[in-house]
Amino acid sequence: MEKREQIYEEKAKKVYATEDPALVIVSYKDDATALDGLKKGTISGKGAINNRMSNFLMGLLEKEGVPTHFVKELSDRETVVKRVSIVPLEVIIRNISAGSFAKRYGVEEGIVFDSPTIEFSYKNDDLHDPLINSYHAVALKLATEEEIARIKEMAFQVNKVLKAYFAGLGVTLVDFKLEFGRLPDGTVVLADEISPDTCRFWDSKTGEKLDKDRFRRDMGGVEDAYEEMKRRVLGG
Ligand code: UDP
Repeated sequence: MEKREQIYEEKAKKVYATEDPALVIVSYKDDATALDGLKKGTISGKGAINNRMSNFLMGLLEKEGVPTHFVKELSDRETVVKRVSIVPLEVIIRNISAGSFAKRYGVEEGIVFDSPTIEFSYKNDDLHDPLINSYHAVALKLATEEEIARIKEMAFQVNKVLKAYFAGLGVTLVDFKLEFGRLPDGTVVLADEISPDTCRFWDSKTGEKLDKDRFRRDMGGVEDAYEEMKRRVLGG
């Protein structure tokens, strides 16, 4: 697979064209941003950890019937994925209250929900990714009603699989963000990444945070938390 011109660069990744128009190469960076881009920094080793962990989890999800964009890991930081047109929605699943949910509704973090919740944000930097409901998403033609139904179904299936998987590693899956893309034939697949950048992971015994909240909240031990998650998921 040949890496050709850079198609675009986002906060934590670069995306390159290949000789195959249906495939692109994603290159994961160590750069981290938070608080709507106001906070910038580097998490040393993050790119390689997120790349490898995300690929592993996508493989697991494929086996459990969730189609993804994953094709082939090329190196520590680089992966071939199917070229998709991204559905401009951030899909957030929550099992336990935390972050913006706790803030918005004035409740403490750590409330365990009887069933998981789903919400959408409109991926739009100028508007700061506002919360959006599915009717508004359809009205704005961000996705069709059928696509939203499929996305909901896949997102809850991802939660079911990952929640059980992480529980086996002594990790509580608190919440996470997914993104979906359309293949040329219209099939919706899971895209983007699943990593400590996009999930909240709490140690099941101690409650210790093992994710990007350590960076967002200036807690220290950021690299160690990513390493610990890598160790639990990938070993070594
Ligand atoms: N999340 C993400 N990207 C975003 C916003 C949120 O990956 O732009 C993830 C975040 O890591 C957490 C979940 O989505 O696992 C829920 O985040 P929340 O809405 O609580 O927002 P935050 O408190 O991170 O601003």
